[in-house]
Amino acid sequence: MTVVSSRGGPAPRGARFRIRCWGARGTVPSPGQHTVRYGGNTSCVEVRTHDDTLVVLDAGTGLRGLGKQLEAGAPVDLFLTHRHSDHVIGLPHFAPLFERDRIVRVSCGNADALTTRALLELLLAPPLFPPLPAVLDQVRVNGFEHGAPVDVGDGCTVHRFPARHPGGAAIFRVDDARGAGVAYAPDNELDYASSDADVIAWRRGLTLALHGVPVLVHDAMYVDAELASHRGWGHSSALEATRFAIECVAGLLVLFHHHPDRTDDAMDTIVQECRELVALSGSSLRVIAAWEGLTLTV
Ligand SMILES: [Zn+2]
Ligand SMILES: [Zn+2]
Repeated sequence: MTVVSSRGGPAPRGARFRIRCWGARGTVPSPGQHTVRYGGNTSCVEVRTHDDTLVVLDAGTGLRGLGKQLEAGAPVDLFLTHRHSDHVIGLPHFAPLFERDRIVRVSCGNADALTTRALLELLLAPPLFPPLPAVLDQVRVNGFEHGAPVDVGDGCTVHRFPARHPGGAAIFRVDDARGAGVAYAPDNELDYASSDADVIAWRRGLTLALHGVPVLVHDAMYVDAELASHRGWGHSSALEATRFAIECVAGLLVLFHHHPDRTDDAMDTIVQECRELVALSGSSLRVIAAWEGLTLTV
């Protein structure tokens, strides 16, 4: 059973994973009085394995808050789903990058090592950033776009699967010896309206890959009424994410990558609609929408 709370701190003894959300907004940071409860920072999720190994999923503006409270010295494994700005813009403000002797490994789900390093060099050099010699010396870049699963911590692995998103993006699944723990799909167009055989086959394959996952963090950028005018933009509606989570037999769906214009009250309504769909379907799926500070224990 996945436990939901807003308390940080280490995972309870015997837990498989602890997951903490540092940013759940899509596209662009959206601070303001209408986004106080769910938060305005863009995509960043902290995953701790059972031996407290740190896995960071995406480097949106939420990454800054995570970096400020990390313990000294421990290596950081950072996985980028793709290189859109809302998923990488936190990198220049990630304190561990400026600590000598701190190893930061960066794996990008849709780019090779050379391309990923070029991105870091672009973000951390003039004209986007002041000149800081040697800031990237301790960064290790891993080619992951077609590669084997990446080992993280004791017996844990990060797998990647292709998302449907302009320019490509990855979906990550973090496993331990008992199987899947959390799946992370922040930018993914499920496109249930499509009758294209390739789309249907891709979605069926993804459903199998994520079958039974305890926690599914999924793109819920739109409401259904917005889908028709945003086909091909690479995102899903909250109800599509719910339908997909039911098909995956996921335990908990965490709606994610909230539209920058979506107010806290609108988010509450969306969650309620998704729960009604679950009730109609007879599924035991639980649904919440990610907020900054959300902590899950698997
Ligand atoms: Zn995004
Ligand atoms: Zn994107």
